[in-house]
Amino acid sequence: MKKDHLPSLITLLVFEVIAVVLWLTKDNLFYLFNFNYIGLSISLGLFLFSRKYKHARRVVQLLVGCYMLIYLGIVSGENMQIEGFWYYLFTGVFEAATIHYAVAKIFGPLLFGRGWCGYACWTAMILDMLPYKTPAARRRGFGFLRYITFALSFVFVAVLFLLRVGNMERIMFWSFLIGNAVYYAVGIVLAYRLRDNRAFCKYLCPITVFLKPMSYFSLTRVRCDQTRCISCGKCKRACPMEVDMTDNRRSRKNGTECIFCMECVSQCPRNALDL
Ligand code: SF4
Ligand code: SF4
Ligand code: SF4
Repeated sequence: MKKDHLPSLITLLVFEVIAVVLWLTKDNLFYLFNFNYIGLSISLGLFLFSRKYKHARRVVQLLVGCYMLIYLGIVSGENMQIEGFWYYLFTGVFEAATIHYAVAKIFGPLLFGRGWCGYACWTAMILDMLPYKTPAARRRGFGFLRYITFALSFVFVAVLFLLRVGNMERIMFWSFLIGNAVYYAVGIVLAYRLRDNRAFCKYLCPITVFLKPMSYFSLTRVRCDQTRCISCGKCKRACPMEVDMTDNRRSRKNGTECIFCMECVSQCPRNALDL
């Protein structure tokens, strides 16, 4: 087996383990199907990437993003947004959104950083279709806004519980639909106003409150072989998240924002970058 295919195989195995463990411990066949589907989609993308197919990441993003938004969110009525996470947390049920958050957004990033943001998020799936694939304007100091959206999502669900509002499942379903519509609208407006497809991710997304600190310690990182690097800067110009990937320290500039899009790796004329 080629070394290039190793990430694809490891990913498949990790998801297979998660699928089987959850299936057996929760006695629910859904988890077997769910994590197998996601694992297969991501592995397919990694395989296509190893074959240098340029739309590999987009294929995964569409396979996983559409599945989560349309099948889990709309058809199955699971609120997979952060409100859904708070809701299940408050009810003390380790199901749906809590498992999703634990795997993709809280503990998973210790292993695969912000892979979620590059390969699975249904918000970014749309934002990545916009014209500003790399920022065309300087970065703004709006990052504090993520703490406000994070707090608002918490307060929204906490108030519903404190007021003992009935029919919570229905409210969660509608808040998922409305919340997504708002995310898309705000994300698209921000992308055009700030000339950066990923402006929403950089400034507003409440999930980054979990993602950023956890991915700081990520096992998987883009690393630079300094002996090969000729400081041409092509990698940094290709990065949608403005990461200084030539700096191998964990504290590198915007280091917690890497989404593993691999644009920097494919642009490097010296093959100095790799995971
Ligand atoms: S930062 Fe938020 S909106 Fe952007 S890709 Fe990650 S989870 Fe999705
Ligand atoms: S270009 Fe490189 S450093 Fe930037 S987000 Fe993509 S993989 Fe990460
Ligand atoms: S593209 Fe490659 S050679 Fe150029 S600065 Fe980046 S890592 Fe160094």
